[in-house]
This record gives sequence, structure tokens and C-alpha cells, in this order.
Amino acid sequence: MKKKSICFLTGVIIFMSLFGCGKPKYVLTFEKTGFETEKKKYEEGEKVTVYYDMIATDTDYSFYTDSEDVVLKQEYDNNHGYVFTFQMPAHDVKMGVSSRNSMIYEPVNPGEITEGDEGEIPDGAWKCPECNYDKNTGGFCSNCGSKKP
Ligand SMILES: [Zn+2]
Repeated sequence: MKKKSICFLTGVIIFMSLFGCGKPKYVLTFEKTGFETEKKKYEEGEKVTVYYDMIATDTDYSFYTDSEDVVLKQEYDNNHGYVFTFQMPAHDVKMGVSSRNSMIYEPVNPGEITEGDEGEIPDGAWKCPECNYDKNTGGFCSNCGSKKP
């Protein structure tokens, strides 16, 4: 029984190599992890679908391939993340992504320091009449910049 099924399997493989793989297939590879595809190899003109779901909201992504003749169609899907489709050209394709953190770091606003700000008051500190900041040691308020009274 086992031998028979191996024979059958060998027959299928021979059949596929004779008739199933008539067209050459091209390999799709990725420069980085995070991409997902159903297949690795595609025939020329075959529709390729690629998913990319490693997404951080504060990051800008730009996707590219190493082939000028590949036109990437980019969509966004809540289940999969980014979805790309393109037609396989008659050569191997490598796809990659470059990401850039788009978060803008705002400088700390000194005006946000409030009266209730906790911390040790330095010796000889004076309280600013303008903003009530009470840890000033210099000639001007270090919170709002007013001159020492
Ligand atoms: Zn002040």
C-alpha cells in the first residue's frame, strides 16, 4: 500500500514537471521581514499580492522594488495592514521598505511649569510675581523671564 502511494506520487511529480511547470517562474524576495505572500514563485504576468502588517502609527513607510517595470499598487486594509498588488515581470523581484519615525519632538515649554510644581526650593530663591514660580535664583525668572523685583 505504501509503495503504491509512493509510485503514485512519483507519477504526479513527473507529470507536473512535464506539463505543470512549462512556464518559467520568478522568485519574489524581501529585503526585510514583515512581508507576507501566499507564494514565493510566480509566472510572468501573474498577480502578486503582498501583505505588510508591521506598522507603527508614528512611522512613515515607503515601499519599493528593485525593478522599474514593477508598478506597485498600494492599498490599506484594516485586517492585513498594507496590501500590495502587482504583475510579476519576467524576472526575479526584490521588495523592500524604508521607514522613518515621523514623531515630532516638541521642546519642553517652560511656561508649563506651574505654581504647584514640586521640588526643592533653592536657598535664597525668589518667587516671581508674574507667574508665581518660586525657585528662581538668577536675576530673571527662569520660568517666564521676568526681571527679579
Ligand atoms: Zn515668572
